[in-house]
Amino acid sequence: MNKQILIHEKSRAGRIGTPMPEPSRSEQELLNFIPRKYRRDVDAPMPEVTEGEVMRHYIGLSVKNHHIDKGFYPLGSCTMKYNPKLNDRAASLPGFAEQHPLAPCRTAAGSLQIMYELEGYLKEISGFDAVSLQPVAGAQGEFVGLLIIRAYHKDKGNPRRKILIPDSAHGTNPASVSLAGYKTVQIKSNDNGIISPEAVAAAIDNETAALMLTNPNTLGLFESNIVEVARIVHDAGALLYMDGANLNAQLGIVQPGKIGFDILHFNLHKTFSTPHGGGGPGAGAVGVVKRLEPYLPAPVLSKKTDEDNRLFLDYDRPKSIGRVHSFYGNFANSIRAYAYIRTLGAKGLREVSENAILNANYLKELLKEHFEMPYDSICQHEFVLSCTRQKKQGAKALDIAKRLLDFGFHAPTVYFPLIVPEAFMIEPTETESRETLEAFAETLIAISAEVESDAEKLHHAPFTTPVRRLDEVKAARELDIRYK
Ligand SMILES: *Cc1c(COP(=O)(O)O)cnc(C)c1O
Repeated sequence: MNKQILIHEKSRAGRIGTPMPEPSRSEQELLNFIPRKYRRDVDAPMPEVTEGEVMRHYIGLSVKNHHIDKGFYPLGSCTMKYNPKLNDRAASLPGFAEQHPLAPCRTAAGSLQIMYELEGYLKEISGFDAVSLQPVAGAQGEFVGLLIIRAYHKDKGNPRRKILIPDSAHGTNPASVSLAGYKTVQIKSNDNGIISPEAVAAAIDNETAALMLTNPNTLGLFESNIVEVARIVHDAGALLYMDGANLNAQLGIVQPGKIGFDILHFNLHKTFSTPHGGGGPGAGAVGVVKRLEPYLPAPVLSKKTDEDNRLFLDYDRPKSIGRVHSFYGNFANSIRAYAYIRTLGAKGLREVSENAILNANYLKELLKEHFEMPYDSICQHEFVLSCTRQKKQGAKALDIAKRLLDFGFHAPTVYFPLIVPEAFMIEPTETESRETLEAFAETLIAISAEVESDAEKLHHAPFTTPVRRLDEVKAARELDIRYK
């Protein structure tokens, strides 16, 4: 591999990308307003390169990483679907992008209208009575949900102590529970990979504040006992929380607010299309049933009924859990979600979910002869297979995941959920063609054959990527992002 050259190292004195006009007289005069001591003595060390070199430099860097515009990205639970560029364009319209976040409501009517309509769409999609767009990540949505649960119980006299969580839960769930001052009580999934009413009944008591469920769960299975489970939870005076990060299988099909859930967080950046590889920016909107509405984070977007139904941000919310983020969430994500929902419409959204489910089941069928399938029933938007057979032959899930990179595919989520040994969690999403799914399956099957013939080779994969096998623990603990 060639050593990466910095753009500064490509610089040659006097080389010009784009000729810039000399500053005008008035611009020059403006500059004079900046006190002398704050001005530069020497020019900024900008690289001097041609426009073409700039383009090649950054395109070259961009293709070193895997990304959704470059190839298939079946990272389970993360919904790495193709995000239409139209949504980015909407988010960068000058009227939105150049608006000051502290602009008074009267001059921000268009932006407030977008947020108001988006809340309306999310209410309809989820079946809840009220939505807040303020939280800026799925995990923050969980935290807000748990604070609302605490505020609700406290209002009734006892905040309670425990939250029930199944053993298949996403790692953020117990983390949010701790942050909100609760204790996690884990309940076991049954042999079919879902929660049984008996397990909930056995664990719940009058110190249980809520049951927190991901649906479809992290095995990609719909919690089909949900109505019965909801009855048990409510009979115990507790609330039912849904981790709705993975709503990709439910649009236009299920309204969680109508089947017993009291509170839910969306991951707008997953289901409603904002590019989110690399950790941001996120949008973790929260939906609640009527009786929890007073606790939503302030400010709440409301209408002034005495003044032409003017929209405003209402801070006068005595029962609110308070503010969790500056301004009103990641507004650019809200615009993307709005554009996405408006372009697809009700029919298109339902097709998203139908195709997400179809793609996942098709891929599962292509692979099921070649890998262990611990929960082989019809799945939702994703499924989990196990590489235990391959491990016995000498290559682990990690080795197979690394080898996939050599063929231009991003690896699935590995070793999660924890209840499946050598797990591969695969979420193809609705935006992939049949040919892509087949090419991925053929590759995975070919790698499985490689394990049989030469497992040792796989311990050294990947071979063709810009960096080979990284020490992932060291990379996380001793973050080194500076060029030397
Ligand atoms: C992605 C995800 C989360 C966390 O969302 P972030 O935006 O990354 O904080 C929580 N639960 C599930 C099931 C998820 O897939």
